[in-house]
Amino acid sequence: MPELPEVQSMIDTLIDDGCLNHKIIGVETIMPKLFKNSDFKEFENHIINEKIENISRIGKYLIFHISHKKVFVVHLRMEGKLFYDDADFPYNKRHTLVRIIFNNKKELRYNDTRRFGTFTIYNENDYINSKEISKLALDPLDENFNWKYLKNNISKSSRHIKTLLLDQTNVAGIGNIYADEILHASNINPLKQGNKITDKEFKTISDNATKILQLAVKNKGTTISTYFFKREKKGEFQNFLKVHTKKDKPCTKCKTTIEKIKVNGRGTYFCPKCQNE
Ligand SMILES: [Zn+2]
Repeated sequence: MPELPEVQSMIDTLIDDGCLNHKIIGVETIMPKLFKNSDFKEFENHIINEKIENISRIGKYLIFHISHKKVFVVHLRMEGKLFYDDADFPYNKRHTLVRIIFNNKKELRYNDTRRFGTFTIYNENDYINSKEISKLALDPLDENFNWKYLKNNISKSSRHIKTLLLDQTNVAGIGNIYADEILHASNINPLKQGNKITDKEFKTISDNATKILQLAVKNKGTTISTYFFKREKKGEFQNFLKVHTKKDKPCTKCKTTIEKIKVNGRGTYFCPKCQNE
């Protein structure tokens, strides 16, 4: 599942490749159910003849800012990807669920093999207060994010810290890969309860969350299986992973064998020595 660094890398790539400020002259879908608060016709009317003026991010959501103060919001869920292609570049007809056609012989294509992604439309003034966006916490790259904010959201809960970090209402943008990496860097056991975490540990977790996500953005995200930030372009952060996917390998800090357990149903990697409490 794309997490903050993967979503940010896709946005950076779309903008760098020149996706902004071209007139939209057509839109097609093979899966009208993708559009959550509108039917496809409404989505089409919402964006046709407009331009994408900017793309921003809140947590793992992509916010497409359209001319005339309109917005559409995309969540990639499990396998969603966005590609800005030449109109004659071949695409997979079965997995390309949406094509937004510009007047410069280019298309923005939404590819999703699992079909769990969502598109929703808003006016610019409304999306911040929408049900899906308003409940999101700050992410670790937000300038207002700090250890006290994290403590305030987590320290009253008896749930496991791994589960608490994945809850987008506590801290946004972190998924399974980065939660494992952050806890390993912080020497904290994924099963430790939120209400047992000390102030010092909150500081460590908060610092590591920011540092690791920044480094992952710089490396265009993590490709373990199917993530591409651009056609055929894999991220590089898998080369920096210390614990996630490293079952039976030696810990980079202490050489103890990395173990894999389930925490709230999610495969979780940790070092039993460095992360013994
Ligand atoms: Zn270790």
